[in-house]
Amino acid sequence: MTRVAVVGGGASGLIAAVRAAQMGADVTVYERGERVGKKILSTGNGRCNLTNINADVSHYHGQNPKFMMSALSRFSVGDTLEFFGDLGLLTKTEDEGRVYPRCGQASAVLDVLRMALERFGINVVCGFEVKDVRKNKGGFLIEAYDGSIEYADRVILAAGGRAAPSLGSNGSGYEIAKRLGHTITPLAPALVQIKTNTAIVKSLKGLKIDARLTIESGGQAVANDKGEALFTDYGISGIPAFQLSRYAKKGADAVLDLTPEYTREELKAMLEVRKYNGSSLEAYFTGMFQKRVGHAVLKTCGLLPLSRSAASLSSEEILSLAATIKAWRFPIEGTLSWNNAQITSGGVSTKEVLPPTMESKLVRGLYITGELLDIDGDCGGYNLQWAWSSGYTAGEAAAE
Ligand SMILES: Cc1cc2nc3c(=O)[nH]c(=O)nc-3n(C[C@H](O)[C@H](O)[C@H](O)COP(=O)(O)OP(=O)(O)OC[C@H]3O[C@@H](n4cnc5c(N)ncnc54)[C@H](O)[C@@H]3O)c2cc1C
Repeated sequence: MTRVAVVGGGASGLIAAVRAAQMGADVTVYERGERVGKKILSTGNGRCNLTNINADVSHYHGQNPKFMMSALSRFSVGDTLEFFGDLGLLTKTEDEGRVYPRCGQASAVLDVLRMALERFGINVVCGFEVKDVRKNKGGFLIEAYDGSIEYADRVILAAGGRAAPSLGSNGSGYEIAKRLGHTITPLAPALVQIKTNTAIVKSLKGLKIDARLTIESGGQAVANDKGEALFTDYGISGIPAFQLSRYAKKGADAVLDLTPEYTREELKAMLEVRKYNGSSLEAYFTGMFQKRVGHAVLKTCGLLPLSRSAASLSSEEILSLAATIKAWRFPIEGTLSWNNAQITSGGVSTKEVLPPTMESKLVRGLYITGELLDIDGDCGGYNLQWAWSSGYTAGEAAAE
């Protein structure tokens, strides 16, 4: 019987373990935490957005995003839903193709995986922090930080990235991969909040607004996304900020269009008409924006005091308001760091891994999965789908 060791009991490691055991391997999961799957419990704000029915290569990033296509076709979104369905998980699909457990609890995903670990007789060793994996007489030696040594015929390295270390993965997988000869592409926190100049955002803290967010660098639009932006005391959060955080470098600008559904001309016409609502600037945006947003727009345009009559706004002032509403500019200071990031961009170079099996090209019998690889997905269930696809593919190949 092939002995398969899985380093890391997260999403990709657990599915790899289940698949390898289903294929008849003798599987042991080594997990540094006190229990497996801690991060799964925090995903999707506790609801676990476990996949997205729109998953395809366009939602993935890395030096070669196409690397992920093979595993995704080997274990597709449909296969994922069937796999979890067979384990007893009912799911529902929400906006933009996001899939969640029907019961609304992330714990359901972990629980069905844990039940499968038991059913397939998988050994789970928690509190075992792997320090090193070395080739040993046709197999592998797995050494923990406390000095204990275990052996296996094949190893699946599923130790995750560097993001959210409090949930388990602290980046130690990169060191193990490096010592085995692998190259690590530059690592950066991704799917993380954007830090901006705080002069305006601080006054808007806690407010959410439907907007289009564009990142501009050197006067050029680099990327944009539409959705609910959330103002915070350090900058901008919410899904569009997460999606674009990979482009949020110091020196670039976060540009918000507060009315993406209207052209600048349409907006200008609306603003002209509002002048005659018989109000002061204080109430000029009532019915259009939340009060604090309206006041901050006026302040940005230097249109004070709020007691001034709206009817006195000149055409130039209306133009300036329209320009700010369509392109409200916040100089970027960077992003929040690893503790706040959902995932890591960069990782083990995919040039050194075989796409159909996840096996290392440098060390035969070693398989690498999930966030540890230089593949990361958009927000919306794409990262867990990558964990499932790469983990399942590796588990199957390692057991063969
Ligand atoms: C707050 C938060 C919310 C998220 N929400 C979503 C979501 O809703 N949808 C989505 O698609 N993605 C989401 N993600 C991303 C997703 O959780 C990850 O992409 C995915 O878990 C990666 O799976 P993995 O198996 O590669 O790594 P992980 O799930 O991080 O698992 C790695 C495991 O390895 C263990 N480990 C690490 N080093 C060692 C070692 N040396 N020895 C032994 N064990 C080790 C860790 O303790 C951990 O249990 C979220 C992430 C965070 C942080």
